[in-house]
Amino acid sequence: MNIDINKLVRKNIQSLTPYQSARRLGGKGDIWLNANEYPLAPHFNLQNSNLNRYPEPQPETVINQYASYAGVQPTQVLVSRGADEAIELLMRAFCEPYQDSIIYCPPTYGMYSVSAETLGVQARAVPAKSDWQLDLPAIEANMENVKLIYICSPNNPTGNLINPEDIKSVLKLAKNRALVVVDEAYIEFAAEHSVASWLKEYPHLVILRTLSKAFALAGLRCGFTLANEPVIQALSKVIAPYPLPSPVAEIAAQALTRDGLTTMKLHVVNINAQKTKFVYELRQLLCVEQVYSSFGNYVLVRFKADSNVFKQLWDKGIILRDQNKQPGLENCIRISIGTQAECDAVISALNSL
Ligand SMILES: *Cc1c(COP(=O)(O)O)cnc(C)c1O
Repeated sequence: MNIDINKLVRKNIQSLTPYQSARRLGGKGDIWLNANEYPLAPHFNLQNSNLNRYPEPQPETVINQYASYAGVQPTQVLVSRGADEAIELLMRAFCEPYQDSIIYCPPTYGMYSVSAETLGVQARAVPAKSDWQLDLPAIEANMENVKLIYICSPNNPTGNLINPEDIKSVLKLAKNRALVVVDEAYIEFAAEHSVASWLKEYPHLVILRTLSKAFALAGLRCGFTLANEPVIQALSKVIAPYPLPSPVAEIAAQALTRDGLTTMKLHVVNINAQKTKFVYELRQLLCVEQVYSSFGNYVLVRFKADSNVFKQLWDKGIILRDQNKQPGLENCIRISIGTQAECDAVISALNSL
């Protein structure tokens, strides 16, 4: 039988290519510094033997632990399959397909526009200014039919924080119109800059968090949304009935104990120290044009034109994340902070180009 299945696929999906995640892009390497993962695997114990039963939809222990860690109320927390699921749940709950829009500010994380496109929600790019801060007049000028404004701070891949005063300005201009979503996937590396405490003041503020970065649990697929109760309730209507497998909840609960938090904070201290050293060494290299200061567990590096660094290191089994196609990031590569040995290998490979 000859059937063109593609003709049955929704029109807006037919033309899409899957998100080019670090894993999907592949590569054959020994050194993986392309997905902002923590370089070492933590160990956990799985005891749960009740896999015949459905899990708790929102596991109470995990919700209470995360609320306490983030300094919010348990009613202000939703747990999901990574922060990526939360990015999409917000659109499903708040955006009318083919009518409403979201705003995102490139260069930034790719999933805001990818999720919007799959849902038939218009993704409106309002490019950041040359200093990678928000272009407030342009955001204001593009607010028509906008329901969600995604702001990533620290921003992936540039590493800068968004000025808190600018986030307040966006909250002000979005009042009664849209939600402002601050993606704090990397906030543990710059913990004092979280805007979680603002939830008391702003009913339309949403904060995204994850266990994938500083908690070293990217494989777990566990993320959190912090928001006031009406937002959490709206999201509860669209989330799957059992979003979190019981083994995931069990490991998340261990990661969020007092010991787990101590371990995570050690990761942060180690990575930040490693980052300082790595940045210093990168700045000595001839092929490097600029290393941007970063508040995340990664650095963005601009290499001299036609140095072809990405491909050359790829061929040596060092897999980095090419950013050349993002607006304003010509010749830029994002490098996750790995172990001392991994950072040394990058420096020595760059030295030998
Ligand atoms: C890694 C990342 C996420 C995704 O987190 P998951 O919890 O692994 O889905 C979300 N936002 C940004 C900015 C990220 O870098």
